[in-house]
Amino acid sequence: MSRIFTYQGSAAHIVFGEGRSQTVDEWIEKLGCSRALVLSTSHQKADAEALAARLGPLAAGVFAGAVMHTPVDVTEAAVEALRDCGADCVVALGGGSTTGLGKAIAYRTDLAQIVIPTTYAGSEVTQILGQTEGGRKTTIKDAKILPEVVIYDAVLTTGLPVGLSVTSGLNAMAHALEALYAQDRNPISTLMAVEGLRAFRSALPALVAVPGDVAVRGDALYGAWLCGTVLGAVGMALHHKICHTLGGAFDTPHAETHAIMLPHAAAFNSVAVPGLLAPVAEMFGGSVGGGLWDFASSIGAPTALKDLGLTETDLDRASRIAVENPYWNPRPIDERSIRKLLQQAWEGNRPEQ
Ligand code: NAD
Repeated sequence: MSRIFTYQGSAAHIVFGEGRSQTVDEWIEKLGCSRALVLSTSHQKADAEALAARLGPLAAGVFAGAVMHTPVDVTEAAVEALRDCGADCVVALGGGSTTGLGKAIAYRTDLAQIVIPTTYAGSEVTQILGQTEGGRKTTIKDAKILPEVVIYDAVLTTGLPVGLSVTSGLNAMAHALEALYAQDRNPISTLMAVEGLRAFRSALPALVAVPGDVAVRGDALYGAWLCGTVLGAVGMALHHKICHTLGGAFDTPHAETHAIMLPHAAAFNSVAVPGLLAPVAEMFGGSVGGGLWDFASSIGAPTALKDLGLTETDLDRASRIAVENPYWNPRPIDERSIRKLLQQAWEGNRPEQ
């Protein structure tokens, strides 16, 4: 078999292991910085304040206003807070929303970022920033956006509620699924995608059974790193396009939308690239979409778009938007086929393929 590919490794430092968030002070200094603004959502404010207290003089302050979809007005308030307290770097403690705020600040100021992820969304290892202004979500890709240091510490994820752990894990798995058939895939992205899926295949059911098991949480976080890395490395296709459409136009919750769509998008594309998705069929049993649906159902994931408040009329509009400026996809799409696919996901049916 002839091999043709292009590969570029990431510039980010990955620090992985239980308890390693204790080394954040060393990383601030290694980056040549001395005053970090600690970021979080309001929900994780106490954790951010505890981290800032531990950092002592290395912490310039806490900004606990991160919210989903990185609204520009929140970023502007954070940049102002950053200037007021004289911070020279940011430490983002939280999920994709907090990471998004750190990236938005770095994009505007070019300051260094350290991210301590507490969900499995994967944003911390991509140079992609999605932000919203006036109800519109736009995506920017820039080297300044990639965080310099990511510290994965499973101890900080034991409190992530089981429901969010499951949907966040499926969100990450969707990155790996689409990496397997990405046009610009390479041998490393494929190895990482398969290993990431395998990690979640074993970690998510174990985590549902014992949510506080730090070793299992570590396996899930390992999967998150792998799946996030391939999201940052290769192009995404139909699944991500549909999820962005639903999130952007109907404000559906991010991780749940990914969790519901994953088996359906996988089933749709498996017809075109059965060989590339064979590892998924093998791992989850039976067909690609059916196997993923059985897996998601067995760990209590949501399965129907109608449960997110979408109506059937919304599906007509969503299919129209999804075919406007489509991403590359291994199987050709048209409005009719997407409408049919969305109907299946809306009803929560088990895909056959
Ligand atoms: P999130 O960051 O919004 O977190 C959801 C909620 O869970 C928040 O209230 C948060 O404070 C809380 N939480 C997080 N970790 C916790 C923990 N360990 N214990 C208790 N509570 C915890 O959710 P998310 O799914 O991680 O991120 C979604 C956002 O990330 C979206 O805006 C999405 O667009 C973005 N995203 C971006 C990329 C990218 O590459 N640009 C990739 C994936 C996701």
